[in-house]
Amino acid sequence: MQDVYHREINYLRVSVTDRCNLRCVYCMPAGGVKLISHDDILRNGEIARLVEAAALAGIKKVRLTGGEPLVRKGLADLVAAVRAVPAIDDIALTTNGILLPAMAGELKEAGLRRVNISLDTLDPRLFRQITRNGELSQVWKGIETALGLGLNPVKINTVVMRGINDSEITGIAALTLRYPLHVRFIELMPVKASNDWAADRYVPTSEVKALIEGGLGALNEARRPAGNGPAMYYRLSGAPGTIGFISPVSDHFCRRCNRLRLTAEGMIRPCLYGGREVDARAPLRRGAGIAELASLFRQAVMMKPDRHSMDKGWTDKRRNMSQIGG
Ligand code: SAM
Ligand code: SF4
Ligand code: SF4
Repeated sequence: MQDVYHREINYLRVSVTDRCNLRCVYCMPAGGVKLISHDDILRNGEIARLVEAAALAGIKKVRLTGGEPLVRKGLADLVAAVRAVPAIDDIALTTNGILLPAMAGELKEAGLRRVNISLDTLDPRLFRQITRNGELSQVWKGIETALGLGLNPVKINTVVMRGINDSEITGIAALTLRYPLHVRFIELMPVKASNDWAADRYVPTSEVKALIEGGLGALNEARRPAGNGPAMYYRLSGAPGTIGFISPVSDHFCRRCNRLRLTAEGMIRPCLYGGREVDARAPLRRGAGIAELASLFRQAVMMKPDRHSMDKGWTDKRRNMSQIGG
């Protein structure tokens, strides 16, 4: 599908739940999160039907995200159902990794090939602060499980925050010297939970890159691992893994945007930063045919803005990041 700015849109990020077993400071508020009622969340069959419709409209790649996708019951069945849609040639998952040790095996069996795991620090105490009580050792076990099962590539997502985890950058980058991990440093974005402080904590990619090169040596351009994200990739000399940078703030990768989002309650969201959505759940539940559902994805593509309006901060009063899927 081409949008009005001639970008090819072939990637759908599906938020499978708004629930999460962590409360990362940059993504969710500490408390008082109003959860979507279970009846309003799409069921597995409904998500699979919408993915089928999206595929008919031109979507080829799907990522399951959340909230925390692994807290959704029946996730492996959902992976298998999405995998069964013939036109979808890639299915991936973004997770905080906490439940991966227990679930990675069944997910792989269901057809999952690769996984992105979020990890912002190697210090258990800081991890508890950032995630508001998460246990780092579980995530690390999750990473080892994913590597051991041959899920490939295993990508690590690290959101960099000044004065919080910027001292961890070289340590996390150095993981690529020991493991075939693909670490991606992500610029902090102002979203509902971090709108008031993100600007003060933001560290641009240029600074992160300079810190790594200062501490660990030159970064040489590398081939991108499988996937179709906006990261630029580099490699430290002799490293089995790569280092990538995702720069939504300093580099408006919107001009290379290839994505739509589907929220857990079945709204197609043309842009992370625009509040506009196309309701797919109501037509789905009243029995709309596949062609009508596909047209909703085309309609959402035509609503895509040329770029985000992040400089105005997060203006969507209804949703926080965990409800959209990052
Ligand atoms: N729970 C899963 C996880 O943490 O990987 C999947 C959902 S999470 C919303 C998806 C990604 O969004 C994570 O890598 C997270 O670090 C990133 N993210 C959340 N809030 C962010 C923010 N304010 N700025 C940049 N990235 C953010
Ligand atoms: Fe949960 Fe992921 Fe958001 Fe952290 S970033 S609160 S793990 S959804
Ligand atoms: Fe695409 Fe919107 Fe993200 Fe820019 S902010 S890359 S237009 S979804």
